[in-house]
Amino acid sequence: MSADGRDAPAWLRPNVAALDPYVPGEQPQEPGWVKLNTNENPLVLPEVVEAVAEAATDAIRTYPDPLCTALREALGARYGLPPESVLCANGSDELLTLVVRAAAGEGDRIAFPDPGYSLYETLARIQNAFPVPIPFGPAWELPVEHLAAAGARLTLVTNPNAPSGTPFRLDELDALARQVEGLLVIDEAYVDFGGETALPLVRRYDHVAVLRTMSKAFGLAGMRLGYAFGAPATIAALRTVQDSYPVDRITQEAGLAAVRHFDAALANCREIAARRDRYAALLRERFGWKVWPSATNFLLAETAPRAAPEVFEGLRRRRVLVRYFSRPRLAGALRISIGSEAEMAALVRALEELLA
Ligand code: PMP
Repeated sequence: MSADGRDAPAWLRPNVAALDPYVPGEQPQEPGWVKLNTNENPLVLPEVVEAVAEAATDAIRTYPDPLCTALREALGARYGLPPESVLCANGSDELLTLVVRAAAGEGDRIAFPDPGYSLYETLARIQNAFPVPIPFGPAWELPVEHLAAAGARLTLVTNPNAPSGTPFRLDELDALARQVEGLLVIDEAYVDFGGETALPLVRRYDHVAVLRTMSKAFGLAGMRLGYAFGAPATIAALRTVQDSYPVDRITQEAGLAAVRHFDAALANCREIAARRDRYAALLRERFGWKVWPSATNFLLAETAPRAAPEVFEGLRRRRVLVRYFSRPRLAGALRISIGSEAEMAALVRALEELLA
């Protein structure tokens, strides 16, 4: 029997049968929703959309460059690393799969601060590795010593963290890098909205890798493009467990256009960050909510005295989607992505009705 009581096929690996699969945020297919539930970016670079349209030619008949050569060169040049230190993938979720697949076998320990991105635990369980969640401090402090003491082959840290939005300092991550034995992966999905990158650690240590995505800062969640930075030996190892053609032709072109317009994307991130700070203050002042300081494109807001699931449902009835996690420490809160000004105003109007 699986976790939800369904009959599992007899051939299924027992750890897969017992799995609580990762459930992504709802993606309604009909228009009319204010969608603040999956940390998408309301701003897309028009030059990237044009590059996607231009890439739609009969060249799609042939396979894409399996190594994403031009894209890795462009990304390497942008970040000051050689192309051998860069790996492109079908979203950073694929990169997470690759690090777990490459680093951890059955029973090996995979450590991560908790609560964080719950996919880490799911990936560990798929691999039949042993997930070791290490609780954050009360104000989301990084549990450096406990993470280091976990004896993991793989340590995964999201910085800034999701879903708290809170950032860690580079010196904390450096201290962790000096103490862990296995591979340390810093997932920087949201770093461009205000975090401090750990790329200096990639240059300093062979056992540190940094993961990035074009889903958030570049507004390209629909294209599926992630990239990793690491020592050439790390990148080569991850490549050995990757599919042959992980990034399609059109996405490679989108990525190249995005790198050409990098500074415009960073300006978009600053615009989102400024809006985030304004709405964090508004939610605190108008509704008395506890809103954690965020360095990302979302806010974690504690809705007390109102129960978070009730607020979630009330918003949903008004066609505003946010994210609710029933896990300990998160059950009293909602994660709210920063959308356009109009979407944020719609959220506030819905909350005013609901909380009046
Ligand atoms: N890491 C974190 C912390 C995330 O929140 C997400 C988005 N759900 C990802 C990685 C995956 O991003 P993508 O696969 O779109 O690159």
